[in-house]
Amino acid sequence: MAGNDNTRTIVCPTCLYQLGSIEPAHQVREGIETDWYRCRLNHQNGICWDGEPLPERPLWPATATQEKAAQFVRAALDAGSDHAAILAGLAEKKLI
Ligand SMILES: [Zn+2]
Repeated sequence: MAGNDNTRTIVCPTCLYQLGSIEPAHQVREGIETDWYRCRLNHQNGICWDGEPLPERPLWPATATQEKAAQFVRAALDAGSDHAAILAGLAEKKLI
Protein backbone atom coordinates (compact mmCIF):
# COMPACT_ATOMS: atom_id res chain seq x y z
CA MET A 1 0.00 0.00 0.00
CA ALA A 2 1.43 3.35 -1.06
CA GLY A 3 -1.08 5.86 0.24
CA ASN A 4 -3.59 5.65 3.09
CA ASP A 5 -7.36 6.01 3.57
CA ASN A 6 -7.04 9.75 2.88
CA THR A 7 -5.60 9.14 -0.58
CA ARG A 8 -8.39 6.98 -2.07
CA THR A 9 -9.88 9.90 -3.99
CA ILE A 10 -7.96 12.99 -5.11
CA VAL A 11 -8.66 16.10 -7.15
CA CYS A 12 -7.73 15.15 -10.73
CA PRO A 13 -4.56 17.19 -11.40
CA THR A 14 -5.12 17.15 -15.18
CA CYS A 15 -8.64 18.58 -14.87
CA LEU A 16 -7.46 21.12 -12.31
CA TYR A 17 -4.29 22.43 -13.94
CA GLN A 18 -5.21 22.02 -17.63
CA LEU A 19 -8.96 22.66 -17.65
CA GLY A 20 -9.57 24.58 -14.44
CA SER A 21 -12.22 22.14 -13.28
CA ILE A 22 -12.52 20.26 -10.02
CA GLU A 23 -13.20 16.58 -10.61
CA PRO A 24 -12.65 13.61 -8.34
CA ALA A 25 -10.16 10.98 -9.48
CA HIS A 26 -10.55 7.61 -7.82
CA GLN A 27 -7.75 5.20 -7.08
CA VAL A 28 -7.81 2.47 -9.71
CA ARG A 29 -4.57 0.71 -8.90
CA GLU A 30 -2.44 0.59 -5.81
CA GLY A 31 1.29 0.13 -6.06
CA ILE A 32 4.20 -0.19 -3.67
CA GLU A 33 5.20 3.47 -4.04
CA THR A 34 2.79 4.86 -6.62
CA ASP A 35 -1.00 4.80 -6.66
CA TRP A 36 -2.89 5.33 -9.93
CA TYR A 37 -6.00 7.46 -10.29
CA ARG A 38 -8.59 7.99 -12.99
CA CYS A 39 -11.26 10.68 -13.32
CA ARG A 40 -14.51 10.55 -15.31
CA LEU A 41 -12.74 12.23 -18.26
CA ASN A 42 -10.35 9.26 -18.28
CA HIS A 43 -7.27 11.20 -17.23
CA GLN A 44 -4.88 8.81 -15.55
CA ASN A 45 -2.35 10.08 -13.03
CA GLY A 46 0.14 8.29 -10.86
CA ILE A 47 1.13 9.74 -7.54
CA CYS A 48 4.29 8.51 -5.87
CA TRP A 49 3.86 8.55 -2.09
CA ASP A 50 7.32 7.16 -1.40
CA GLY A 51 9.12 9.51 0.97
CA GLU A 52 6.11 11.86 1.07
CA PRO A 53 4.29 12.56 4.32
CA LEU A 54 0.89 10.93 3.91
CA PRO A 55 -2.04 13.35 4.16
CA GLU A 56 -3.80 13.66 7.49
CA ARG A 57 -7.10 14.69 5.91
CA PRO A 58 -8.92 13.27 2.88
CA LEU A 59 -7.66 14.68 -0.43
CA TRP A 60 -11.24 14.95 -1.66
CA PRO A 61 -13.11 17.33 -1.58
CA ALA A 62 -10.92 20.10 -2.97
CA THR A 63 -9.21 22.63 -0.72
CA ALA A 64 -9.78 26.38 -0.93
CA THR A 65 -6.35 26.66 -2.61
CA GLN A 66 -7.37 24.15 -5.28
CA GLU A 67 -10.64 26.04 -5.86
CA LYS A 68 -8.63 29.24 -6.31
CA ALA A 69 -6.24 27.44 -8.67
CA ALA A 70 -9.19 26.24 -10.78
CA GLN A 71 -10.55 29.82 -11.00
CA PHE A 72 -7.10 31.07 -11.98
CA VAL A 73 -6.73 28.42 -14.72
CA ARG A 74 -10.21 29.15 -16.16
CA ALA A 75 -9.51 32.88 -16.24
CA ALA A 76 -6.09 32.33 -17.84
CA LEU A 77 -7.58 29.99 -20.48
CA ASP A 78 -10.28 32.58 -21.25
CA ALA A 79 -7.48 35.14 -21.68
CA GLY A 80 -5.70 32.84 -24.14
CA SER A 81 -2.73 31.92 -21.96
CA ASP A 82 -0.75 28.82 -22.87
CA HIS A 83 -0.12 25.98 -20.45
CA ALA A 84 3.43 27.04 -19.54
CA ALA A 85 2.24 30.56 -18.68
CA ILE A 86 -0.61 29.14 -16.63
CA LEU A 87 1.74 26.91 -14.62
CA ALA A 88 4.12 29.82 -14.07
CA GLY A 89 1.22 31.99 -12.89
CA LEU A 90 0.01 29.26 -10.51
CA ALA A 91 3.50 28.92 -9.05
CA GLU A 92 3.84 32.69 -8.70
CA LYS A 93 0.57 32.84 -6.78
CA LYS A 94 1.57 29.77 -4.74
CA LEU A 95 -1.48 27.88 -5.96
CA ILE A 96 0.44 24.80 -7.07
ZN1 LIG B 1 -9.38 14.62 -15.06
